[in-house]
Amino acid sequence: MNDTNRTTKGRVLSGMRPTGKLHLGNYVGALRNWVNLQNEYDCFFFIADWHALTTDYADTRMVKQNSLEVILDYLAAGLDPERSTLFIQSHVPQHAELHLLFSLITPLGWLERVPTYKEQRENIKDKDLGTYGFLGYPLLQSADILIYSPSCDLPESERKLLVPVGEDQVAHVELTREVARRFNQFYQPKGAGAVVSGVAATVFAEPQPLKTPTPKLPGTDGRKMSKSYGNTILLSEPEPSLRQKLKTMVTDPARVRRTDPGDPDKCPVGDLHKIFSSQETMAKVYEGCRSAGIGCIECKGWAADSLWNELAPLQERRKKYEANPRLAWDILEEGSKKARGVAEATMQQARDAANLSWEYEPPAQSAAEGK
Ligand code: SF4
Repeated sequence: MNDTNRTTKGRVLSGMRPTGKLHLGNYVGALRNWVNLQNEYDCFFFIADWHALTTDYADTRMVKQNSLEVILDYLAAGLDPERSTLFIQSHVPQHAELHLLFSLITPLGWLERVPTYKEQRENIKDKDLGTYGFLGYPLLQSADILIYSPSCDLPESERKLLVPVGEDQVAHVELTREVARRFNQFYQPKGAGAVVSGVAATVFAEPQPLKTPTPKLPGTDGRKMSKSYGNTILLSEPEPSLRQKLKTMVTDPARVRRTDPGDPDKCPVGDLHKIFSSQETMAKVYEGCRSAGIGCIECKGWAADSLWNELAPLQERRKKYEANPRLAWDILEEGSKKARGVAEATMQQARDAANLSWEYEPPAQSAAEGK
């Protein structure tokens, strides 16, 4: 029995691609929730460098630098290596081994029908995504999750595996559940661990989506905040530049003149207020905007104040690691080592079930010899 892979709390798994410095969209959509989840669960948060290569394989020069930027932002946001395991995906090669095993049993149709696969093949024209790796990336995600299944000799009720997702991503977890079921149908644990609490054991726990709030966060041009639109505000944005970006942010188109009333519910700046401002400020914004009692410049100043209130402590924490990035890298190395221990414990159970264990087994006597 391997204790490495036991947890009394539910286990949470999630990651981000190393795209460089993170922005407010990454923070509000995921990172801020992860920080809260650390209090309740056994959390594993990783930097998905192999995933970056599923689309950006042609030029990998920035992968490592970008990974470092992401860990700086993880730590700045409050992910705590004492409570969460922070690691780099490619430093835990068991993810790749499990991905291979899954690729052997997964019907092609399951991958071809993943909505983001079709969508991205159609929308991304500047890269050749007709690769085996790109088709298989959802399966790599399944391996990323299932490799952290709590040990198969635990009762099912104690094998909670959770994936934090926004409402629109629940479907992504479903493929992983299907893959887990398929593997579990083909291959079962052997020996002492074959039956747990009177029930046939399974190698992989089926993960559950953990729905987390993902409020609408517009970029400076009013569209969804995204690096590819060039409309982001970084978590590490210096205060003067943050204030400047807010000044140029689009507003409710109905407010053409200072005397025109507007509606914060139709304004990207209003969306920022809803996430970052106090109720008191919100009340002033609604009243002042709808009565044309305030100008947009003043309102944007308040939004910048609220935003800076949230970001200043993050940037303060970031400074220590910026001054000595090796500290952050050491945290990743330590986390990767711990993750390898857990992942290897799962992988041993998976290999064993699929008759690929590394244990010596003497040749079976043939029927003829037995006579
Ligand atoms: S006053 Fe504020 S909420 Fe109203 S349109 Fe201007 S920026 Fe937007």
